[in-house]
Amino acid sequence: MTAPLLKVEGLVKYFPIKGGILGRVVDKVHAVDGVSFELQAGETLGVVGESGCGKSTTGRCVLRLIEPTAGKVWFEGQDVTAMDRHALRGMARHMQIIFQDPYASLNPRMTVGAIIGEALTIHKLTKTPGEYRDRIVDLLETVGLRADHMQRYPHEFSGGQRQRVGIARALAVSPKLIVCDEAVSALDVSIQAQVINLLEDLQAKFNLTYIFIAHDLSVVEHISRRVAVMYLGRIVEIAPANALYTEPRHPYTEALLSAVPIPDPKVKRKRIMLQGDVPSPIRPPPGCHFHTRCPIAQKGLCDTQAPVLKRVGEGHEVACHLRA
Ligand code: SF4
Repeated sequence: MTAPLLKVEGLVKYFPIKGGILGRVVDKVHAVDGVSFELQAGETLGVVGESGCGKSTTGRCVLRLIEPTAGKVWFEGQDVTAMDRHALRGMARHMQIIFQDPYASLNPRMTVGAIIGEALTIHKLTKTPGEYRDRIVDLLETVGLRADHMQRYPHEFSGGQRQRVGIARALAVSPKLIVCDEAVSALDVSIQAQVINLLEDLQAKFNLTYIFIAHDLSVVEHISRRVAVMYLGRIVEIAPANALYTEPRHPYTEALLSAVPIPDPKVKRKRIMLQGDVPSPIRPPPGCHFHTRCPIAQKGLCDTQAPVLKRVGEGHEVACHLRA
C-alpha cells in the first residue's frame, strides 16, 4: 500500500466552557475524543453520526480551521498540526472545505465571479486579467454553470446552484483533499443526487480525495469507499462501505442502518429504536459512551471500560467489547 495522503492520529478537541464573573473555565465539551484514521489519495471516507458526534469538528481540525487540543494530522507526510500561519496558508491550496449552507458561506455582496476568483488572487494563480477570467469561466463550466453566471450574486441562484458555486470556489486552487461538511444535507433529495454525481465526476477527473460528512448513512453510501461511524467524539466503527452496509458489527451502526429505507418494498428491515437522547458531550458516560443506549450493554464492563477499535475483517475495525 502507498503512503496515505492524510493521516490523523489521536485527534482531540475540547471546547472550554467559561463561567462566573471572572470567566474561568468551568467545564469542557468533549467534541472529538481520540480520532484516528488514514486516507489514500483519490478515495472518499464517509463520516456519519448524529448531531454533536464531532464529525464536523473533526473535519475542521484536520484543516486547522479549529485548533485541535491534541493529536497529529499529517498531509503528504507533513505535520499540519506543527505548521505556522505562513505554512498553513500554503497548505490551504491543497486542502479545501465545502460547507453545508452555501448561502451562508458565500458573501452576498460579491458576484459569483469575485467569490470564485478570490482564492486565485490570494494564491497568485493567474498572471493576467484574461487568464483570471478564463479560469473562472472554466471553473463555472466544470461544475455545470455558465460563463454569464459570473456577474450574478448568490441570491440569484437556487440552493443546488449555490452549492455548485461553493464547489467551484473550492476547486479554484486545484486542491488534493476536500472536506465536504454536510455539503448536501440542506438540499432536496433529487438535487442531493445531482451534487453527489458531480462530486464523483470531479473526483475521477482530478483524482480528488474527500472526507464526506453527513448525519445519514444513506447519503454517504453511494459516494464512499470507506465509512467511519462516530458517536460522542469517537469512531465506533470504520469499514469498507460494502462491509459496513452488509455486515455492520457495532450496535450503533446497526441502529443507524435500520433507519435507512430500502428501495425494494419486498425487503423488510427491522427498525432498531434507540432509547433516550445522545448524552451531553460535556459529561459523556464513562466506559463505552454508547452504553446508556446500547441494547446489549453489559453492566460492570461497558459502563466502566472504554472499548478500543479492534480489527474484525479486512479494513474493518469496531470499538465494542462484545462484537470485536
Ligand atoms: Fe454496547 Fe458494550 Fe459494545 Fe458499547 S461496548 S457498543 S455498550 S456492547
